[in-house]
Amino acid sequence: MAATHSMQTQLFINGQYVDSKSGETWKVTNPATDELITDKVQTAGEADIDAAVDAAAKAFKDASWRGIKAADRAKMMLKFADLIEAKAGEIARFETIAMGAPLSVQTFVAHSAADVFRYYAGWADKIAGEQYPDDDGTYKIVRYEPLGVCAGIGAWNASLILFAWKVAPALAAGNTFIFKTSEKSPLGVLSLGSLIKEAGFPPGVVNLVTGDGKTGQLLAQHMKIQKISFTGSGATGRKVADAANKSNMKRCTLELGGKSPAIVFEDADIENALNYCSQGFLLLSGQVCAAASRTYVQKSIADKFIAQLKERFDAAGQGMGADTLAPTTMLGPLADKIQFDRVMSYIESGKKEASLVTGGKRIGEKGQFIAPTIFKDPSENAKIYKEEIFGPVGIVKTFETEEEAIRLANDTTYGLSATLYTQSVTRALRVSAALESGTVSVNSSHSPSVQTPFGGVKQSGIGRECGKQGLMNYLEPKTIHINMKVG
Ligand code: NAP
Repeated sequence: MAATHSMQTQLFINGQYVDSKSGETWKVTNPATDELITDKVQTAGEADIDAAVDAAAKAFKDASWRGIKAADRAKMMLKFADLIEAKAGEIARFETIAMGAPLSVQTFVAHSAADVFRYYAGWADKIAGEQYPDDDGTYKIVRYEPLGVCAGIGAWNASLILFAWKVAPALAAGNTFIFKTSEKSPLGVLSLGSLIKEAGFPPGVVNLVTGDGKTGQLLAQHMKIQKISFTGSGATGRKVADAANKSNMKRCTLELGGKSPAIVFEDADIENALNYCSQGFLLLSGQVCAAASRTYVQKSIADKFIAQLKERFDAAGQGMGADTLAPTTMLGPLADKIQFDRVMSYIESGKKEASLVTGGKRIGEKGQFIAPTIFKDPSENAKIYKEEIFGPVGIVKTFETEEEAIRLANDTTYGLSATLYTQSVTRALRVSAALESGTVSVNSSHSPSVQTPFGGVKQSGIGRECGKQGLMNYLEPKTIHINMKVG
C-alpha cells in the first residue's frame, strides 16, 4: 500500500525537512470550521533563507544538476508530475483545511499543477538559440542561459498552481528554486518536499519555505537570488519590486490583482453569460485574481439579466456552509478571518455607495462564509467599484453602446483579464482589441491555460507566466560575436 502523504510543518531545504533556525511558528485554522489545524508551521528567518539560498546556489553549479542532459531534467519533472497526481487528493486536502477552497476545486488545482510540470518538461530540451551570418565579418550567436537561484512568492488562493507556474519553467530552463507559500496556505506546498526528493531532484534544486511578509522580504532583497516571481497584491508587489531593485537588481515578474470586467451584449447567449457571470465568477468564492468582478450589461436586456443573476447568486449561496471536504461542495468560506473582515468592510461601504441587489451578509455562525453579493449602479468613484475586493462581491452596471462598454471596462488602474459575451465574431474581435487587458476571454470566464501567457497590463503586473513567455522569464540571452577575420 502506498505510504500516506503526511502533513509537514518544517521547511524543506537542501533535500530535507528541517526545523527553522528562527524557532518561530504560527497557527493555521480551518476557515470553514474555525478549528485549529496546527500551531507548528515554521517561519523561515534570515538564517533559514541564507541556508536555502546557499543550497540552491550550490545545486545550480553542481554536476548533478548543471551537468546533466536537459532530457534528464525533464524526466525528473515528469516523475514529479506523476507523484503529484498520485497524491493529488491528499495534497489538495491540506490546501482545503488551511484556506477553505473546497476539496473538489483544490483537487482540480493539484492535477493542473502536475500538468504544468508535464508541459514545461517538454520544453527542457527545446531551448534553442539563434545565429546570424558573418555578412559583416562577425559571426553572431545568441545563447539562452539559466539565471541561477530563482525565488517565488505565492498568494494563498491557489498555492499549488502558483508554485507550478513558477517552479516548472525555472527548472526546465536549468535554474534552482526557493518557493515561499503564503502563511494562509502553507500545507499543500510544504507536503511536496518528499515528492521532490522521490522524483530525483538533487538536494537544493527545489527548496520550500514558509513565513509571513518578512520572509518574502528576505527573498526579495537577497543579494544572491537572481530572479523573483511574485504573485499577490499590488501593494506588496511594489515592495517586492523596490527590494529587488535596491538589492542586486534581480529580475522581477509581478502577477498582481485585478478588477476585471465582463461585458454582456444584447446578442449574447444569455444562459451561457449568466452561468459564467455567476458560477464562473464565484469560483473560490470570488478569490480569484482573474475574476470578472464588474459586469456591464447592455440596457436592453439589463432588468431581466440582473434578476436572473440574482437568482443564481442566491442559489449558489444555498450551498455555502457545506462541508468543504465533501466532493460535491463547490463554494467555500473566505480564506481566514482577516480576509472575511476585509470583504465585509467593502460590503459595508458598498451599502452606502450602491444599491444592494442581494447578499451583503455572513452565512452561518461558524466559519468565514459570506453570501454571494451583488451591488448595482455604484458611482464611478465608489470604493467597491474601483478597488479589488477579492471575495464573492460582484458589481453590475449598464451600458448602451459598444463604445460606452469599452470606456467603462477600461476605466480602471488594473488590466488582468477581461471577458465579453456576444455571438458576433467581428464584435468579439473588435472589442477584444480595444480592451486594455493581458487576457480577454470571449463567451466564458478566463481560465488560464499553461500554453498561453498569463499576466496583466497597467497595475496588474509585469511579465507573464505560462506558455513560452513563462519559460523565457527564466532565461537570460547571452550574445557571442566572433570576428571571422582572425584565426
Ligand atoms: P499579498 O498580501 O500581497 O501577499 C502575497 C504574498 O506576498 C504572500 O506570500 C505574502 O506573505 C507575501 N508578502 C507579504 N508582504 C511581503 C513583503 N513585504 N515582501 C515580500 N513578500 C511579502 O496578497 P494575498 O492577499 O496573499 O493574495 C491576494 C492578491 O493576490 C490579490 O490581489 C490577487 O488578485 C492576487 N493574485 C494574483 C494572481 C495573478 O496571477 N495575477 C494570482 C493569484 C492572486 P503572507 O501572506 O504569508 O503574509
